[in-house]
Amino acid sequence: MADCHFCAPPDEELECGDPHFRVTHAPLDRARPGTLIVATRRHVLDFGDLSGEEAAGFGALLRRLYPAVRAATGAERVHIVATMDFVPHFHVWVVPRAAAEPLRGIPYLVSPAACTRQDATAALERIGAQLA
Ligand SMILES: [Zn+2]
Repeated sequence: MADCHFCAPPDEELECGDPHFRVTHAPLDRARPGTLIVATRRHVLDFGDLSGEEAAGFGALLRRLYPAVRAATGAERVHIVATMDFVPHFHVWVVPRAAAEPLRGIPYLVSPAACTRQDATAALERIGAQLA
């Protein structure tokens, strides 16, 4: 779709090794370094619209991303969130949470976050190195 944010080519994309998904850094004004967005290349709404191959690829991709994000960011936990409330194109936030972070779960996920382009790019490079 021409007016869909996730259908437009991103500025920076992590080579994730799956042809059905693109992995980018989350928006800088809403994310800590290493927070990712995994989105389908195809314009579909949610899990119910994925092909069997896409659904299997998503699970395999997250199985590789979790340890890569933990290693690259030092996170104790990795959270995933998907709502599609603002953009009706399948995308999942992958959110690292540091051990020293006092908040947990939803309170952590809704707490303010931001990072610089430089920190986001460095985190993407470290995650990419872990995936390679
Ligand atoms: Zn789209």
